[in-house]
Amino acid sequence: SPGAEMNDVTLKLDKIAKAYNVGKPNEVKVLHDVSLQVGQGEVVALVAPSGAGKSTLLHIAGLLDTPDTGTVSIGGEDFTNLGDRKRTAARRNDVGFIYQFHHLLPEFSALENIVLPQLANGIAQSDAEAHGMDLLARVGVADRASHRPAALSGGEQQRVAFCRAQANRPKLLLADEPTGNLDPATSDRVFGALMDLVRASGLSALIATHNLELAARMDRAVRLDQGRLSEGMTE
Ligand code: ADP
Ligand code: ADP
Repeated sequence: SPGAEMNDVTLKLDKIAKAYNVGKPNEVKVLHDVSLQVGQGEVVALVAPSGAGKSTLLHIAGLLDTPDTGTVSIGGEDFTNLGDRKRTAARRNDVGFIYQFHHLLPEFSALENIVLPQLANGIAQSDAEAHGMDLLARVGVADRASHRPAALSGGEQQRVAFCRAQANRPKLLLADEPTGNLDPATSDRVFGALMDLVRASGLSALIATHNLELAARMDRAVRLDQGRLSEGMTE
């Protein structure tokens, strides 16, 4: 039915436009009429040359920024015109972020970095720790749970960052070059760990990458060029 189809869409961007410095001489139109759907459990690659508007698109999809026109829905709920407080709450609950650099808290252990966001969401310590250990085990770094980020390799740091992004069981995972700071062989392996984790949790994901081989391992690719989105990874 059409209703069931709507519920199967995790992220829906509809006719998004965004400009900076509107009405000023230095106005830049960044996104033009961008529409995108990421289905439940679907992993979509976002391929974009630098300056194409990738960060702006990810920030709008992750409820960090608002579009000038168009709508943003996550899990069938329209978040376009939420106030700041509701938008922050929705972001914490529904969206997980992964960046090129891990952004783990340096003074806390790997496990604590995954436990803290859960405690902030009202989860009991013992449940948060059990879930954290389960996530670490799934990406093969359970034996690093008590180490601080500085004591981990780059690949291990990113694996922990993947776990943290999923700590609160978000509906949607957004990643910006999640293995971009790793050497090619490590990137390949760590990307595999990310995909395993995403598949095991049935999560929907939009993953920006310049790496067409990694893009080809996802379900589908879209290309952003000069603020316009098209299907496929090449022009
Ligand atoms: P990408 O992540 O693809 O490199 P961005 O979304 O960061 O692209 O930026 C797209 C364009 O918008 C660039 O030309 C950038 O300079 C411009 N831009 C981004 N953020 C701002 C801002 N806050 N104010 C003005 N221009 C911006
Ligand atoms: P908290 O206060 O719990 O860290 P926030 O609501 O500030 O949560 O942020 C929620 C998520 O959005 C976090 O994953 C955070 O890393 C990310 N985030 C917040 N602000 C920005 C930003 N300006 N750019 C990119 N990501 C951000």
